[in-house]
Amino acid sequence: MTLIVKKYGGSSLSSVAKLRNIAKTTHDLHHNSNQKIVVVLSAMGSSTDKLVDLSIRAVKDANKRDYDMLLSSGEQVSIAMLSMLINDLGGRAIPLTGWQAGIKTDSSHANARIKSINTKRIKAELRKNNIVVIAGFQGITSEDNISTLGRGGSDTTAVALAAALKADECHIFTDVDGVYTTDPRICSKARRLDLLTYEEMLEMSGLGSKVLQLRSVEFASKYNVPIRVLDAHKNNALGTLITKEEKKMEGAIISGIAFTKDEAEIMIKGVKDQPGVAAKILGPIGTAKIEIDMIVQNVGSNGLADFTFTVSRNTLKNAIKVIENNKKSMGYSSFDTKNNIVKVSLIGVGMRSHAGIASKMFKCLAKNKVNIRMISTSEIKISVVIDQKNLEIAVQALHNEFKLDKK
Ligand code: ADP
Ligand code: ASP
Ligand code: MG
Repeated sequence: MTLIVKKYGGSSLSSVAKLRNIAKTTHDLHHNSNQKIVVVLSAMGSSTDKLVDLSIRAVKDANKRDYDMLLSSGEQVSIAMLSMLINDLGGRAIPLTGWQAGIKTDSSHANARIKSINTKRIKAELRKNNIVVIAGFQGITSEDNISTLGRGGSDTTAVALAAALKADECHIFTDVDGVYTTDPRICSKARRLDLLTYEEMLEMSGLGSKVLQLRSVEFASKYNVPIRVLDAHKNNALGTLITKEEKKMEGAIISGIAFTKDEAEIMIKGVKDQPGVAAKILGPIGTAKIEIDMIVQNVGSNGLADFTFTVSRNTLKNAIKVIENNKKSMGYSSFDTKNNIVKVSLIGVGMRSHAGIASKMFKCLAKNKVNIRMISTSEIKISVVIDQKNLEIAVQALHNEFKLDKK
């Protein structure tokens, strides 16, 4: 007997009609096959955004435990709704919250990590021939408080459950019919990919493609869970299979283009060009738990240099505070910040064995009058920071240049 974990994202659950459709397909599959089914749900539509908004309207800086209690409520609504709909069809469904499903996390509220899953209750329900409908995005801490896993975290719940239950398949149903060469909302010529390696998907997610939460891909890769990304409301589609690299997968040099609008740039001006400067600036930023992404140092005149780096946009305010409070030890003359920048990345395992990709990328951007502010590279990706106004033109031009456009 096979066990399948099926996860549905918020956009696929934005109305009762959509939930009814999912209830019917799930019930039919359960009724007509020998499969055991676990369904993981996100909150309906944009209800998590609405909950975030509610908390902002209530207080400036909510207590993280209270915030998680609020945010986790959206998923409780959707699991109850789906369960009702399946049971109304004469099916057998049981809704379980994260804690009822045995999902234990650490205590980093709003961004918790799954530590372990006690699958006893889920297995007991499966043995009773129930469809187990589990709330994504949430768990319980060792202090018995409800935690949430960071935005997009239901993907991680699904993959972690698939690993813990040794499921045969993990299907992520969403509002696109697979992983594309780039976000189809930005580039109409984006093409669906049949197959991707964990490594490539890790880069795509890590560099901004929100179709799968990064941690879900980390779990999948660690526990070797094949993921199939599928359209929630189209049957029999092929989707995209994400799995470990196999020899026969040797294919395109570039598999995709990812981008993130979450970046902000900080330029610290007039620091001494001498050993230890980077540590003096980045030390206090790190102590404040602010993550730094790209770094560039330009040597100027009179032994002074400019030191530029990027942080996530939602940590910019904090970073500014740290820089102001440490002016003396950092030893700069002034600093500037810039919010309207984006990071665009070219990704592909084939880059390892092909030279000249970077220069081709830079030439293409130059031809399209896109100025590059920063560059970083790894074995399988090249990222550039550019002005936000150039995002679409850059993505579309690179997509064409690297022959990713659909025919
Ligand atoms: P869900 O609500 O199902 O979790 P998400 O909004 O989190 O859905 O993820 C799906 C969205 O991800 C798509 O609507 C698409 O705009 C975006 N996306 C970004 N990059 C890609 C990509 N490379 N392939 C497919 N979708 C992508
Ligand atoms: N509902 C949560 C969010 O909007 C979790 C998820 O969608 O995966 O982030
Ligand atoms: Mg998502």
